[in-house]
This record gives sequence, structure tokens and C-alpha cells, in this order.
Amino acid sequence: MAGKLITFYGCMFAGKTTALLNHIQSSDYKLSEILILKPSLDFRAGLDFIKTHDGKSIACNSIERDSNIDELITPFTKLIAIDEAQFFDKIFYADLKRFLAKGINIAAAGLDKDYLARPFGLMPLLMQMAADNHELFAKCNVCGTLANYTYRKADNKVLVLIGAENYYEARCETCYHL
Ligand SMILES: [Zn+2]
Repeated sequence: MAGKLITFYGCMFAGKTTALLNHIQSSDYKLSEILILKPSLDFRAGLDFIKTHDGKSIACNSIERDSNIDELITPFTKLIAIDEAQFFDKIFYADLKRFLAKGINIAAAGLDKDYLARPFGLMPLLMQMAADNHELFAKCNVCGTLANYTYRKADNKVLVLIGAENYYEARCETCYHL
């Protein structure tokens, strides 16, 4: 039977990583049956941790965004969990389709839109392929209603800025366009 892809998507500060960790923890799989991935944006590959804004963490494989992940898959792998999925190269898309066909489930968390409200990297493709898409919301930094846009405060045009809280905030659609 083919595997199932689900996504957790939304703006920054919407709790996407927390939702992914909850999904991993509520699954019946052993840790040895789960492959947890995140993109290595600074080219340091290896053992790393996924951390949530509320302080939870779990060990994961930090890999380059165009990596071949076949060597990380074992005959026991039942779930691939991907954080910051928007940053992975589109090469990854075909690989993930192949793993789904083999019966491996996939859960992917990521930003659906970048700070200019454009579709972000791999995420829209994953959402098209998914059996379930869970939209998550943050709280608008201006008016306090549900937010699904990431607003950049700093005047810096580089797409990937680390140190999120200083540069970005969540906004609702109305306040995003202020
Ligand atoms: Zn607002």
C-alpha cells in the first residue's frame, strides 16, 4: 500500500515544528523506524536537533538541500518527517514520490509562502501531492487575529535570514498589506 503524505503549513511562529513533533510522538513507530530530516543551510551536515519555539527538541539528520537520501532509508523506515521542507531542492520531490510508492509515510512541515507572499520552494508541490494539509496560524503581531503571512521587519533582501525573531513577525492578511 502506498504511503501517505501529510503537511503542516503556515507562516512563521505558527507552531509547524511543534505540530510535526507531536505527529512523530503520537505515531506508533519506534524512533528507529522514523527518519527525521532538516535542511542544513550552513553546509554542516550530520546529527542535529529540531527545536521548537517552546523549547522542545528531537535529534535529526541535517542534510544538504539537494542530498540523495536513499542511503538514510533502511528496510525499517516507516515515516520520513521533514522540518523546514520549503528549503529542500525540487530534486527531492521525485525521491519522495518514490518513497511514498514504497509505502513509507511522509510528514512535512514548512512555510507555504515566503515573506513576499510567493509560493515557497518545495512546499507548494508537497501540498499538491498530500493526502492531508493542515494549515496552522500564528497570532498577528499588529491586531492579534489569526495570522498566515510572514512579514519582514528588517530591510534586507536576502531570502534566508537566521535569527528569526529579530527580522520577521506574523501578520494577518490585512496587516501584512499595511
Ligand atoms: Zn492583523
